[in-house]
Amino acid sequence: MTDIHALAVAKLSPMFVSQLATAFTLHDRLHETDPAAFAALAPRIRALAASGDSKVSAELMATLPALEVISVMGVGYDGIAVQAAKARGIVVTHTPGVLNDDVADLALGLMLCAARQLPAADRHAREGSWLQAPMPLARKMSGARLGLVGIGRIGQAIASRAAAFGMSIAYTARSARPGLPFPFFDSPRALAAEVDFLVVITPGGADTRHLIDAEVLRALGKGRGEGILVNVARGSVVDEAALIDALERGVIAGAGLDVFEDEPRIPVRLSALPHVVLTPHIGSATGQTRQAMADLAFANLREHFAGRPLPTPVPECRG
Ligand code: NAP
Repeated sequence: MTDIHALAVAKLSPMFVSQLATAFTLHDRLHETDPAAFAALAPRIRALAASGDSKVSAELMATLPALEVISVMGVGYDGIAVQAAKARGIVVTHTPGVLNDDVADLALGLMLCAARQLPAADRHAREGSWLQAPMPLARKMSGARLGLVGIGRIGQAIASRAAAFGMSIAYTARSARPGLPFPFFDSPRALAAEVDFLVVITPGGADTRHLIDAEVLRALGKGRGEGILVNVARGSVVDEAALIDALERGVIAGAGLDVFEDEPRIPVRLSALPHVVLTPHIGSATGQTRQAMADLAFANLREHFAGRPLPTPVPECRG
Protein backbone atom coordinates (compact mmCIF):
# COMPACT_ATOMS: atom_id res chain seq x y z
CA MET A 1 0.00 0.00 0.00
CA THR A 2 2.95 2.39 0.33
CA ASP A 3 2.18 3.76 -3.13
CA ILE A 4 -1.02 5.20 -1.64
CA HIS A 5 -0.66 8.85 -0.65
CA ALA A 6 -2.22 9.96 2.63
CA LEU A 7 -2.29 13.44 4.14
CA ALA A 8 -2.19 14.20 7.86
CA VAL A 9 -4.43 17.25 8.27
CA ALA A 10 -3.40 17.96 11.88
CA LYS A 11 -0.65 17.20 14.34
CA LEU A 12 -1.40 13.52 14.92
CA SER A 13 -0.52 11.17 17.75
CA PRO A 14 2.87 9.49 17.15
CA MET A 15 1.04 6.19 17.76
CA PHE A 16 -1.12 6.84 14.68
CA VAL A 17 1.71 8.32 12.60
CA SER A 18 4.02 5.34 13.14
CA GLN A 19 1.38 2.95 11.77
CA LEU A 20 0.47 5.24 8.87
CA ALA A 21 4.13 5.53 7.88
CA THR A 22 4.47 1.75 7.50
CA ALA A 23 1.57 1.49 5.06
CA PHE A 24 1.27 4.78 3.17
CA THR A 25 3.32 7.55 1.71
CA LEU A 26 2.40 10.03 4.41
CA HIS A 27 2.48 13.78 3.92
CA ASP A 28 2.42 15.91 7.04
CA ARG A 29 0.12 18.95 6.94
CA LEU A 30 1.45 19.85 3.50
CA HIS A 31 -1.67 21.93 2.80
CA GLU A 32 -0.57 24.27 5.61
CA THR A 33 3.21 24.04 5.52
CA ASP A 34 3.92 23.91 1.78
CA PRO A 35 0.94 24.95 -0.37
CA ALA A 36 2.95 24.68 -3.63
CA ALA A 37 4.02 21.09 -2.92
CA PHE A 38 0.45 20.36 -1.80
CA ALA A 39 -1.01 21.67 -5.06
CA ALA A 40 1.28 19.35 -7.02
CA LEU A 41 0.44 16.35 -4.87
CA ALA A 42 -3.28 16.97 -4.23
CA PRO A 43 -4.57 14.92 -7.21
CA ARG A 44 -2.86 11.80 -5.76
CA ILE A 45 -4.10 12.06 -2.13
CA ARG A 46 -6.53 9.18 -1.48
CA ALA A 47 -6.75 9.29 2.33
CA LEU A 48 -6.87 11.94 5.06
CA ALA A 49 -5.77 11.18 8.61
CA ALA A 50 -7.30 13.47 11.25
CA SER A 51 -7.70 13.94 14.98
CA GLY A 52 -10.93 14.58 16.89
CA ASP A 53 -10.48 18.35 16.76
CA SER A 54 -9.36 18.51 13.09
CA LYS A 55 -11.17 20.68 10.58
CA VAL A 56 -11.77 19.17 7.13
CA SER A 57 -13.85 21.60 5.11
CA ALA A 58 -15.74 21.03 1.87
CA GLU A 59 -13.23 23.45 0.28
CA LEU A 60 -10.26 21.27 1.29
CA MET A 61 -12.03 18.16 -0.02
CA ALA A 62 -12.73 19.96 -3.32
CA THR A 63 -8.96 20.23 -3.91
CA LEU A 64 -8.58 16.43 -3.56
CA PRO A 65 -10.24 14.72 -6.54
CA ALA A 66 -8.94 11.23 -5.66
CA LEU A 67 -9.97 11.36 -1.98
CA GLU A 68 -11.76 8.19 -0.82
CA VAL A 69 -11.58 8.05 2.95
CA ILE A 70 -11.11 10.29 6.02
CA SER A 71 -10.04 8.53 9.23
CA VAL A 72 -10.56 10.49 12.45
CA MET A 73 -8.66 9.35 15.55
CA GLY A 74 -11.38 10.38 17.99
CA VAL A 75 -15.10 9.78 18.45
CA GLY A 76 -16.19 13.40 17.85
CA TYR A 77 -16.06 14.43 14.17
CA ASP A 78 -17.87 17.78 14.30
CA GLY A 79 -14.95 19.44 12.44
CA ILE A 80 -15.45 17.25 9.36
CA ALA A 81 -17.88 18.38 6.64
CA VAL A 82 -19.52 14.94 6.61
CA GLN A 83 -22.40 15.81 4.27
CA ALA A 84 -19.95 17.18 1.68
CA ALA A 85 -17.89 13.99 2.02
CA LYS A 86 -20.96 11.82 1.68
CA ALA A 87 -22.10 13.70 -1.42
CA ARG A 88 -18.76 12.83 -3.02
CA GLY A 89 -18.85 9.17 -1.89
CA ILE A 90 -15.97 9.80 0.54
CA VAL A 91 -16.33 7.66 3.65
CA VAL A 92 -15.60 9.12 7.12
CA THR A 93 -14.54 6.87 10.02
CA HIS A 94 -14.00 7.54 13.74
CA THR A 95 -12.99 5.63 16.90
CA PRO A 96 -16.05 5.11 19.14
CA GLY A 97 -16.15 2.79 22.13
CA VAL A 98 -12.46 2.40 22.95
CA LEU A 99 -12.36 5.70 24.88
CA ASN A 100 -15.57 5.33 26.90
CA ASP A 101 -13.82 4.30 30.13
CA ASP A 102 -11.30 7.13 30.10
CA VAL A 103 -13.79 9.90 29.36
CA ALA A 104 -16.21 8.52 31.97
CA ASP A 105 -13.39 8.26 34.53
CA LEU A 106 -12.48 11.90 33.87
CA ALA A 107 -16.11 13.02 34.21
CA LEU A 108 -16.31 11.40 37.66
CA GLY A 109 -12.92 12.91 38.51
CA LEU A 110 -14.13 16.40 37.59
CA MET A 111 -17.35 15.89 39.58
CA LEU A 112 -15.36 14.86 42.66
CA CYS A 113 -12.78 17.63 42.22
CA ALA A 114 -15.45 20.31 41.82
CA ALA A 115 -17.64 19.02 44.67
CA ARG A 116 -14.89 18.26 47.19
CA GLN A 117 -12.68 21.16 45.98
CA LEU A 118 -9.67 18.86 45.62
CA PRO A 119 -7.37 21.28 43.72
CA ALA A 120 -8.08 24.01 46.32
CA ALA A 121 -7.60 21.50 49.15
CA ASP A 122 -4.26 20.44 47.65
CA ARG A 123 -3.15 24.10 47.56
CA HIS A 124 -4.44 24.62 51.11
CA ALA A 125 -2.31 21.72 52.40
CA ARG A 126 0.72 22.42 50.21
CA GLU A 127 0.94 26.18 50.86
CA GLY A 128 0.55 25.96 54.65
CA SER A 129 -2.87 27.67 54.83
CA TRP A 130 -3.95 24.75 57.03
CA LEU A 131 -1.83 26.28 59.82
CA GLN A 132 -4.20 29.28 59.82
CA ALA A 133 -7.58 27.62 59.18
CA PRO A 134 -9.24 24.39 58.08
CA MET A 135 -10.67 24.11 54.55
CA PRO A 136 -14.24 25.39 54.20
CA LEU A 137 -16.81 22.59 54.04
CA ALA A 138 -17.40 21.07 50.61
CA ARG A 139 -20.37 19.39 48.89
CA LYS A 140 -21.12 15.66 49.27
CA MET A 141 -21.21 13.70 46.01
CA SER A 142 -22.32 10.21 47.11
CA GLY A 143 -26.10 9.94 47.02
CA ALA A 144 -26.57 13.18 45.06
CA ARG A 145 -28.71 13.57 41.91
CA LEU A 146 -26.94 13.31 38.52
CA GLY A 147 -28.38 14.61 35.26
CA LEU A 148 -26.77 13.49 32.00
CA VAL A 149 -27.14 15.64 28.89
CA GLY A 150 -26.51 12.83 26.38
CA ILE A 151 -26.63 9.16 27.28
CA GLY A 152 -24.80 7.37 24.46
CA ARG A 153 -21.73 5.18 24.84
CA ILE A 154 -19.88 7.54 27.21
CA GLY A 155 -22.98 8.80 29.02
CA GLN A 156 -23.90 5.24 29.96
CA ALA A 157 -20.33 4.58 31.20
CA ILE A 158 -20.68 7.69 33.41
CA ALA A 159 -24.05 6.43 34.68
CA SER A 160 -22.64 3.05 35.73
CA ARG A 161 -19.84 4.75 37.68
CA ALA A 162 -22.25 7.22 39.29
CA ALA A 163 -24.47 4.31 40.40
CA ALA A 164 -21.52 3.01 42.43
CA PHE A 165 -21.59 6.38 44.26
CA GLY A 166 -25.25 5.77 45.12
CA MET A 167 -26.31 8.66 42.88
CA SER A 168 -29.75 8.82 41.29
CA ILE A 169 -29.55 9.24 37.51
CA ALA A 170 -31.76 11.04 34.99
CA TYR A 171 -31.03 12.19 31.44
CA THR A 172 -32.01 14.23 28.42
CA ALA A 173 -31.32 13.62 24.71
CA ARG A 174 -33.29 14.25 21.52
CA SER A 175 -35.41 11.22 22.32
CA ALA A 176 -35.91 8.77 25.19
CA ARG A 177 -34.10 5.44 25.09
CA PRO A 178 -36.76 2.92 26.14
CA GLY A 179 -34.16 0.30 27.19
CA LEU A 180 -32.65 2.52 29.90
CA PRO A 181 -33.88 2.38 33.51
CA PHE A 182 -33.50 6.15 34.09
CA PRO A 183 -36.11 8.94 33.91
CA PHE A 184 -36.04 11.00 30.69
CA PHE A 185 -36.50 14.80 30.61
CA ASP A 186 -37.37 16.48 27.34
CA SER A 187 -34.98 19.44 27.74
CA PRO A 188 -31.70 20.30 29.49
CA ARG A 189 -33.59 23.01 31.44
CA ALA A 190 -36.17 20.59 32.82
CA LEU A 191 -33.41 18.12 33.75
CA ALA A 192 -31.20 20.79 35.36
CA ALA A 193 -34.02 21.85 37.69
CA GLU A 194 -34.10 18.34 39.20
CA VAL A 195 -30.39 17.53 39.71
CA ASP A 196 -27.31 18.50 41.72
CA PHE A 197 -24.72 17.62 39.05
CA LEU A 198 -25.31 18.25 35.32
CA VAL A 199 -22.82 16.40 33.09
CA VAL A 200 -22.70 17.26 29.39
CA ILE A 201 -21.69 14.43 27.03
CA THR A 202 -23.28 15.05 23.60
CA PRO A 203 -21.52 15.52 20.25
CA GLY A 204 -20.48 19.07 19.29
CA GLY A 205 -21.54 20.88 16.10
CA ALA A 206 -24.42 23.13 15.07
CA ASP A 207 -27.18 20.94 16.55
CA THR A 208 -25.88 21.16 20.13
CA ARG A 209 -24.39 24.68 20.04
CA HIS A 210 -25.10 26.48 23.35
CA LEU A 211 -27.50 23.72 24.46
CA ILE A 212 -26.42 24.75 27.95
CA ASP A 213 -27.31 28.44 28.21
CA ALA A 214 -28.09 30.97 30.95
CA GLU A 215 -31.58 29.55 31.44
CA VAL A 216 -30.28 26.00 31.99
CA LEU A 217 -27.68 27.31 34.45
CA ARG A 218 -30.36 29.26 36.34
CA ALA A 219 -32.40 26.03 36.62
CA LEU A 220 -29.33 24.13 37.88
CA GLY A 221 -28.70 26.80 40.54
CA LYS A 222 -32.34 26.68 41.76
CA GLY A 223 -32.07 30.27 42.97
CA ARG A 224 -29.80 29.12 45.81
CA GLY A 225 -26.38 29.01 44.10
CA GLU A 226 -26.46 25.22 43.95
CA GLY A 227 -25.50 22.80 41.23
CA ILE A 228 -22.27 21.77 39.56
CA LEU A 229 -21.82 21.72 35.77
CA VAL A 230 -19.33 19.29 34.19
CA ASN A 231 -18.54 19.47 30.47
CA VAL A 232 -16.58 16.62 28.85
CA ALA A 233 -18.34 16.96 25.47
CA ARG A 234 -17.26 19.92 23.34
CA GLY A 235 -16.74 23.56 24.32
CA SER A 236 -19.38 24.64 21.80
CA VAL A 237 -22.18 22.87 23.73
CA VAL A 238 -21.94 25.34 26.64
CA ASP A 239 -22.44 29.10 26.27
CA GLU A 240 -19.12 29.95 27.93
CA ALA A 241 -19.94 33.64 28.45
CA ALA A 242 -23.19 32.66 30.21
CA LEU A 243 -21.30 30.09 32.31
CA ILE A 244 -18.66 32.62 33.41
CA ASP A 245 -21.42 35.06 34.31
CA ALA A 246 -23.30 32.37 36.29
CA LEU A 247 -20.14 31.38 38.18
CA GLU A 248 -19.10 34.98 38.92
CA ARG A 249 -22.58 35.86 40.22
CA GLY A 250 -22.91 32.64 42.25
CA VAL A 251 -25.87 31.38 40.20
CA ILE A 252 -24.35 27.88 40.33
CA ALA A 253 -21.92 26.38 42.85
CA GLY A 254 -19.10 25.32 40.54
CA ALA A 255 -17.93 23.64 37.36
CA GLY A 256 -15.52 21.04 36.05
CA LEU A 257 -14.48 21.64 32.44
CA ASP A 258 -12.35 19.58 30.05
CA VAL A 259 -13.35 21.46 26.88
CA PHE A 260 -13.62 25.14 25.94
CA GLU A 261 -15.15 27.23 23.18
CA ASP A 262 -11.83 28.57 21.86
CA GLU A 263 -9.44 25.92 23.14
CA PRO A 264 -6.55 25.82 23.83
CA ARG A 265 -7.32 29.41 24.86
CA ILE A 266 -9.21 29.70 28.16
CA PRO A 267 -10.73 33.08 29.16
CA VAL A 268 -8.84 34.71 32.04
CA ARG A 269 -12.16 35.38 33.80
CA LEU A 270 -12.77 31.61 33.84
CA SER A 271 -9.33 30.54 35.02
CA ALA A 272 -9.46 33.21 37.74
CA LEU A 273 -12.47 31.58 39.41
CA PRO A 274 -11.68 29.51 42.52
CA HIS A 275 -14.66 27.14 42.35
CA VAL A 276 -13.87 25.86 38.86
CA VAL A 277 -11.69 22.87 37.96
CA LEU A 278 -10.09 22.97 34.52
CA THR A 279 -8.37 20.24 32.48
CA PRO A 280 -6.85 20.69 28.99
CA HIS A 281 -9.08 18.36 26.89
CA ILE A 282 -7.61 15.15 28.34
CA GLY A 283 -10.74 12.96 28.21
CA SER A 284 -9.06 10.14 26.29
CA ALA A 285 -5.46 11.07 27.08
CA THR A 286 -3.97 7.89 28.53
CA GLY A 287 -1.30 5.83 26.81
CA GLN A 288 -3.54 2.75 26.76
CA THR A 289 -6.55 4.46 25.23
CA ARG A 290 -4.62 6.55 22.71
CA GLN A 291 -2.98 3.32 21.48
CA ALA A 292 -6.38 1.66 21.09
CA MET A 293 -7.68 4.75 19.22
CA ALA A 294 -4.62 4.80 16.93
CA ASP A 295 -5.03 1.07 16.19
CA LEU A 296 -8.70 1.55 15.29
CA ALA A 297 -8.09 4.70 13.22
CA PHE A 298 -5.39 2.83 11.29
CA ALA A 299 -7.54 -0.32 10.91
CA ASN A 300 -10.25 1.76 9.21
CA LEU A 301 -7.76 2.90 6.54
CA ARG A 302 -6.18 -0.54 6.18
CA GLU A 303 -9.55 -2.24 5.71
CA HIS A 304 -10.73 0.43 3.26
CA PHE A 305 -7.76 -0.08 0.96
CA ALA A 306 -8.00 -3.88 1.34
CA GLY A 307 -11.61 -3.65 0.09
CA ARG A 308 -12.98 -5.06 3.33
CA PRO A 309 -15.85 -3.70 5.50
CA LEU A 310 -14.87 -0.71 7.62
CA PRO A 311 -14.71 -1.33 11.39
CA THR A 312 -16.23 2.00 12.46
CA PRO A 313 -17.65 4.36 9.82
CA VAL A 314 -19.52 7.37 11.30
CA PRO A 315 -23.31 6.82 11.43
CA GLU A 316 -23.92 9.04 8.37
CA CYS A 317 -21.64 6.79 6.25
CA ARG A 318 -23.02 3.41 7.34
CA GLY A 319 -24.90 1.03 5.09
P1 NAP B 1 -22.86 8.78 21.27
O1 NAP B 1 -22.81 7.36 21.70
O2 NAP B 1 -23.21 9.09 19.86
O3 NAP B 1 -23.87 9.55 22.28
C1 NAP B 1 -24.26 10.89 22.05
C2 NAP B 1 -25.44 11.24 22.98
O4 NAP B 1 -25.78 12.61 22.77
C3 NAP B 1 -26.69 10.41 22.71
O5 NAP B 1 -27.37 10.16 23.93
C4 NAP B 1 -27.55 11.33 21.84
O6 NAP B 1 -28.90 10.98 21.97
C5 NAP B 1 -27.20 12.69 22.46
N1 NAP B 1 -27.43 13.80 21.53
C6 NAP B 1 -26.99 13.90 20.25
N2 NAP B 1 -27.42 15.06 19.70
C7 NAP B 1 -28.15 15.68 20.66
C8 NAP B 1 -28.84 16.93 20.69
N3 NAP B 1 -28.89 17.74 19.62
N4 NAP B 1 -29.47 17.26 21.85
C9 NAP B 1 -29.44 16.44 22.94
N5 NAP B 1 -28.78 15.27 22.97
C10 NAP B 1 -28.15 14.89 21.83
O7 NAP B 1 -21.46 9.49 21.52
P2 NAP B 1 -20.33 9.14 22.62
O8 NAP B 1 -19.42 8.11 22.09
O9 NAP B 1 -20.99 8.95 23.94
O10 NAP B 1 -19.51 10.54 22.60
C11 NAP B 1 -20.19 11.76 22.90
C12 NAP B 1 -19.29 12.95 22.63
O11 NAP B 1 -18.29 13.04 23.63
C13 NAP B 1 -18.46 12.92 21.34
O12 NAP B 1 -19.22 13.25 20.20
C14 NAP B 1 -17.37 13.94 21.63
O13 NAP B 1 -17.79 15.23 21.21
C15 NAP B 1 -17.26 13.91 23.17
N6 NAP B 1 -15.96 13.38 23.59
C16 NAP B 1 -15.12 14.16 24.34
C17 NAP B 1 -13.90 13.66 24.75
C18 NAP B 1 -12.95 14.47 25.58
O14 NAP B 1 -11.75 14.30 25.47
N7 NAP B 1 -13.44 15.34 26.45
C19 NAP B 1 -13.50 12.37 24.37
C20 NAP B 1 -14.38 11.60 23.62
C21 NAP B 1 -15.62 12.11 23.24
P3 NAP B 1 -29.98 11.27 20.80
O15 NAP B 1 -29.39 10.77 19.54
O16 NAP B 1 -31.23 10.53 21.25
O17 NAP B 1 -30.19 12.73 20.83
